[in-house]
Amino acid sequence: MKAIRIHAHGNRQVLQIDEMDYPRIAADEVLIKVKSSALNHLDLWVREGIPGVSLPMIMGSDATGIVQKAGRIAARDYPFQKGDEVITVPIRSCGHCAFCLSGRENLCREFHIPGESVQGVQAEYISVPAKYVLPKPGSLDWHQAAALPLAAMTAYHMLIPKAGLKYGDWILIYGASSGIGSAAIQMAKALGATVITTVGSDQKQEVARQLGADYIINYNKQPVGKSVLQLTQGRGVDVVFEHPGAKTWNDSLRALRKGGKLVTCGATTGPLVKIDIRSLFIKHQQLIGSTMGTLHDVLQILKMVDRKQFKPIVSKVFSYEDIKEAHRYLEEGEQFGKVVIDFF
Ligand SMILES: [Zn+2]
Repeated sequence: MKAIRIHAHGNRQVLQIDEMDYPRIAADEVLIKVKSSALNHLDLWVREGIPGVSLPMIMGSDATGIVQKAGRIAARDYPFQKGDEVITVPIRSCGHCAFCLSGRENLCREFHIPGESVQGVQAEYISVPAKYVLPKPGSLDWHQAAALPLAAMTAYHMLIPKAGLKYGDWILIYGASSGIGSAAIQMAKALGATVITTVGSDQKQEVARQLGADYIINYNKQPVGKSVLQLTQGRGVDVVFEHPGAKTWNDSLRALRKGGKLVTCGATTGPLVKIDIRSLFIKHQQLIGSTMGTLHDVLQILKMVDRKQFKPIVSKVFSYEDIKEAHRYLEEGEQFGKVVIDFF
């Protein structure tokens, strides 16, 4: 079978399509024929080299496909049949620590993301622990289903378990065209929040509006922090949904109201920021870190999908053979929503 692998870190040229043996399945695993897989910024970081990545590595965290067979325990404990259409949840954890047992797998000491610290899912066939395999929502096509798990789970975990977003809150969500931004806008609107978002070009404004954003700031034309203060009559937002990092940090702090929460999951423009802690304590503000999410988050997201409150946005689909071009497209920021690759 074919798999997208890297044997060294570097630019797009390190991406290879390798011929590999079919994966073995453990007793608690399900064998899946992959239809589609989504790219995440994590793929770019893994390719370029971050700590914890062992080589060679099969790329990719998100996949959707068709069940081929189940291991002995998986067949006994889960209702999967050959031919079932499924999504996979990009979590691997020990399953028996206090965090796992309380549904907080992303705090588990053995928490792993496929395609980062364990082998990924961009292959024609993959084996996945049955508990991290869920039915594909019927209302989503393969591309939307592949685009769902990592980005939506990350966004949901930031908004609800971490920031505790409530009806009537104001929220600043960076990057309407990013996978997590486009997910967060829809979810925040479903929760009854007023959404201010940012885009880098006027062409992206209309799509941001269709997602439900109430106010859209073109960050290349207007200063974000100042614009948010104008929109909120000087008060600031209840929640800032951060992921760009260095470039947006000062605007984020400026836009945050007294008692507000800044929740961050990324550093795409750089990881080092400055903070005046006097301002933090005088304003009773909270800075909250968040990575990935939990199986419970994904189950909640699937309810939002059923209620037509959330749908993953797919920007462009590539064949797996064009994986280098797919990475280029994501790297250059041309997308609105998720980049998907097909294994059809
Ligand atoms: Zn655990």
